[in-house]
Amino acid sequence: MSSPILSTDTSRVVHGACPHDCPDTCALRVTVQGGRAIKVQGDSLHPTTHGALCTKVSRYTERVYHPERVLHPLKRVGKKGEGRFARVSWDAALGEIAARLGEIAARDAQAILPYSYAGTMGLLQGESMDRRFFHRLGASLLDRTICSSAGGEALAATYGGKVGMHVEHFAESKLILIWGSNSIASNLHFWTYAQAAKRNGAKLVCIDPRKTETADKCHRHIALLPGTDGALALGLMHELIANDWLDDEYIERHTSGWPALRERALQWPPERVAAVCGITALEVRELARDYGTTQPTAIRLNYGMQRVHGGGNAVRLVAILPCLIGAWRHRAGGLLLSSSGWYPIDRQALQRPDLLAGRAPRTINMSTIGDALLADASPALGPKIEAIVVYNSNPVAVAPQSAKVVQGFAREDLFSVVLEHFLTDTADHADIVLPATTQLEHLDVHGSYGHTSVLINEPAIAPQGEARPNTQIFRELAARMGFDEACFSDSDETMARAAFGDAVSFDALREQGWVQLPRVEAPFADGGFATPGGRCTMVAPGLGVPDFVPNYESAQAAPELARRYPLAMISPPARNFLNSSFVNVKSLRDIEGAPLLEMHASDAAARRLADGQMVRVVNDRGRSLCRLQVSDRARPGVVNGLGIWWRKLGFDGTNVNELTHQRLTDIGRGPAFYDCLVDVEAA
Ligand code: SF4
Repeated sequence: MSSPILSTDTSRVVHGACPHDCPDTCALRVTVQGGRAIKVQGDSLHPTTHGALCTKVSRYTERVYHPERVLHPLKRVGKKGEGRFARVSWDAALGEIAARLGEIAARDAQAILPYSYAGTMGLLQGESMDRRFFHRLGASLLDRTICSSAGGEALAATYGGKVGMHVEHFAESKLILIWGSNSIASNLHFWTYAQAAKRNGAKLVCIDPRKTETADKCHRHIALLPGTDGALALGLMHELIANDWLDDEYIERHTSGWPALRERALQWPPERVAAVCGITALEVRELARDYGTTQPTAIRLNYGMQRVHGGGNAVRLVAILPCLIGAWRHRAGGLLLSSSGWYPIDRQALQRPDLLAGRAPRTINMSTIGDALLADASPALGPKIEAIVVYNSNPVAVAPQSAKVVQGFAREDLFSVVLEHFLTDTADHADIVLPATTQLEHLDVHGSYGHTSVLINEPAIAPQGEARPNTQIFRELAARMGFDEACFSDSDETMARAAFGDAVSFDALREQGWVQLPRVEAPFADGGFATPGGRCTMVAPGLGVPDFVPNYESAQAAPELARRYPLAMISPPARNFLNSSFVNVKSLRDIEGAPLLEMHASDAAARRLADGQMVRVVNDRGRSLCRLQVSDRARPGVVNGLGIWWRKLGFDGTNVNELTHQRLTDIGRGPAFYDCLVDVEAA
């Protein structure tokens, strides 16, 4: 039984955790009165989030009790994409799914594809019974690359894991580079610490093509061209060498590969960097001076900058910088991209890969789902995808090159099942939609990628309508498919207890709502990287010396394309949305207004476009209608298409992914969303 924090005759308060794809993973307190959740607040006792929630989640009850919640299983009665369904019973829905999957699996289970990501970050509802089910079935494996794999694999190649500074220590830093992150919108609690540092005299520098709300509040903003971060990092190295701002002892004792990288960095004087990045040589020199002469100095890197062809190399280069100046010697120095590697999660216990029983199904990359769904059977690919089961994701809106994704999901011969809260663009294409519970209606346990505490999410209210937790849905599907292994009978609580094994006391977790992991304050003060040699690895096996890799779609790599489509487009999340989540929450959508394209006045004038007019963003892959916002949030040569709108809630049934492509990052096989050339014309 869950234990409420506080219980009176009329109300109780329950421990929760924010499930969304955000590094903060806030601890929640949900107030329930008469069986109804009336308030979702932050837990003021949680050490890193301190009780503050972002606007999105403070309105969580609007999402839970949204009149358009899917509350019953639905079966398609219209054409794919029309979103016309009839209500069916759970028995009928599960019976049909089990029959169709069973029939396909009898030929080749690899023709079945699970598709999920971080719609919930919970370990139970995101990666437990579902994985067991698909492993036992022998379905295709999914390469979950859509957000962070370029940076994650690059960081692991350099440090040995996805680990870094502790977020609260940024409050003691004297210089903070906020690199590729609109922290106010997407890493709110880090921003609180950065503000504390600022009050203590720290200098804040924002490195981002877009002049974000965060850039507004930093001392300096470096608006480099998208995809040129690696060149800037090499330029900083050049200046650290030229001015002898290196910590030679730290480099000697705790890194490997510096001589080769040093040679490369010497080829990047500030003038070359300036020409590539679209900034001035003085900006490079001044940033290097600040970085080389201030201690403790810290970098908050985020995943925005790695969604380009050279994203992996860029992360390697940036991650090496703190080693060159010995920033890691201080707990307020170093870098944080992700803290997820600190968590002792027992994924074997949760996901049970042993259920593959020696089979090695093929792997499909989620970032190229458009191509994958349209591909025929071949010796290289294996069987054509005949069935897809989507949960915790909305690929029709969020996957790149929408035209192909939509065409794939519209295949009449594709059997598709979608577990959802709402009729999203993806659910509209489903044969069967199953109503899933929201975070207030199920049990879960969470790690984080921005701090180091484990959190529990107790069910606060009963499932709405006939909604069921993902775990229960896959448990029941397993039973219908005749999977009789004992693990398919595990309850959610059994799995929650197994998630961290003995590393975390489940009773303490239940009592307090969160448990802080034991940790080292300054993790690499004396080296001790998790690489095989214990050193920061500058020249990683198979990856060579890190280098600047230009965008696929750039003047350097594709001059003819750049002549036809001279504007680089990035598509960062709108402040009140979280990827495609919350777009259907009316009060948040009203704040955003409409799909906006930010453009610098000089680019607008060159095209005779005026603020507020409707424009069409175009390239060879497609076109999308937006409202133009002439704004200095966009630098010359770059437009910002704020996302990610549901296609059906946009102006013309499209969104920015109509323009993006499916080519992959240099490391990690991720999507290159921000590596995209376009032009803009009056609509
Ligand atoms: S989205 Fe982020 S900041 Fe907002 S409540 Fe969730 S974890 Fe906290």
